[in-house]
Amino acid sequence: MSLPCSIEKCKQSSDVFCNTCKKNLCREHLKEHDDWLNSEVNHLVEEMKSVSNRYMTIDRNKLINDFRQKLDKWRDDSYKKIDLIYEEKRKELEQDWTKRVAKPRKGIDLMQSKLNGLIRKKKATHEDISQSTTAIRYIDQKIKDIEQKGIQMNIPTLFIDNNLTYIKESKIEETDEFQLLSSYRSIDCSAQSGVAFAANNENLLIYENDYLNLLNRDLVPIQQIQWRYGHIYDMSCYSIDSTRKMVVLYML
Ligand SMILES: [Zn+2]
Ligand SMILES: [Zn+2]
Repeated sequence: MSLPCSIEKCKQSSDVFCNTCKKNLCREHLKEHDDWLNSEVNHLVEEMKSVSNRYMTIDRNKLINDFRQKLDKWRDDSYKKIDLIYEEKRKELEQDWTKRVAKPRKGIDLMQSKLNGLIRKKKATHEDISQSTTAIRYIDQKIKDIEQKGIQMNIPTLFIDNNLTYIKESKIEETDEFQLLSSYRSIDCSAQSGVAFAANNENLLIYENDYLNLLNRDLVPIQQIQWRYGHIYDMSCYSIDSTRKMVVLYML
């Protein structure tokens, strides 16, 4: 005894059970059910068109403009910081260098003045000559030090944190990518007159060459029944109920 049709007010007994809707359906309401599914495909076609059109109208430059402005500002600010540090260090260098170069100058002026005095007075002693020689050699050594050592500088490499400017794609976008599944397994279908098939979550039923073949989820044949009632062009829905009966709606 088949169950009544699940559609409200319908008094017909059901022929099939839709596993997705969880409803028993009479023949008439099964047709409505299939028509509804087909109309859903049309809606999806329209929705896909709209999504595709919206994609075509995306103004990429506008979208990245905001980020580009921020990046430009970051670059300008960074340049300004570098210029500021450069100016500070340049001033420090000039002051330090002027001070160091000025030291021998003082000694040179002092010695020149002393030697002029000795010439003028014409009373140079051995001690004057010895002290002046030591002083001149000392000044000479200081000048050589300046020439040879130059300016000792420690200029570290500029460290820029790349993470400040790196645009990370959000994880949602990374995992959100849909995939169209590739074929799981193929089955040889030899019938030239065509095959018909129907499936639910557990089984696949194939009509081929006057035989109905029932396969499991791994596409392994589990039952074969000879069909003597003519060629099946299409099978809409089928179900295996609690009594393990197979209910098939077919089109001859
Ligand atoms: Zn359904
Ligand atoms: Zn009904």
